[in-house]
Amino acid sequence: MGANRHMSVDSRGRYTPEALGEAAPGSEGPTGSRSHNLLSGRRASLMQEPVLVLNATYEPINVTAVRRAMVLMLKGVAQAEEMHNTEVHSAAHAHKVPSVIRLLAYRHIPQQSRALSRKNILLRDRNTCQFCVRVFPSSELTLDHVLPRSRGGRSTWENLVACCYRCNNSKGDRTPEEAGLKLARKPRPFTLHTSRQLMRLIGHRDERWRKYLFY
Ligand SMILES: [Zn+2]
Repeated sequence: MGANRHMSVDSRGRYTPEALGEAAPGSEGPTGSRSHNLLSGRRASLMQEPVLVLNATYEPINVTAVRRAMVLMLKGVAQAEEMHNTEVHSAAHAHKVPSVIRLLAYRHIPQQSRALSRKNILLRDRNTCQFCVRVFPSSELTLDHVLPRSRGGRSTWENLVACCYRCNNSKGDRTPEEAGLKLARKPRPFTLHTSRQLMRLIGHRDERWRKYLFY
């Protein structure tokens, strides 16, 4: 497990906020900001562009950032399958920027590894408060235990939902029914299906992802 973890692509970097949150409705995303004059600013945003990660079998498994993808390529863990028409320059070299990479060794991804985290709960719930059904920036959302912890509610995919502070306050230590609130939808585990849907959402900006995701 330790070794596995070491080579894990993104037990942490899965769906970076850059990939989804900051490119949420309203934002044009990094590709829309080509007109930036500051080279350094452009490069910084380029390094955070989302990169689709394929398993050795070409199955899409994840989304990471350009910076992380390039590290994996340099380490020989992954190779580029699709490239942007852009280069980044280090002191001595010009590097092509990947859009899709593929792991060279097959990586088994158990269901449990779809880490329960604040970030992933917000992703699953699309940054939407599950009580008032409004969309918020991540910083204005918290996690609500549907069945309160004081009643034995556990921290699981099925008992945690994205919630704005206002609804969280009015709900307090009660169940939704007691507080007169209704869940927008029943919280579900983060399945491969969910994550593929999210990849598609992110991938709408990059034509190069299509053949791996739309089938
Ligand atoms: Zn709310």
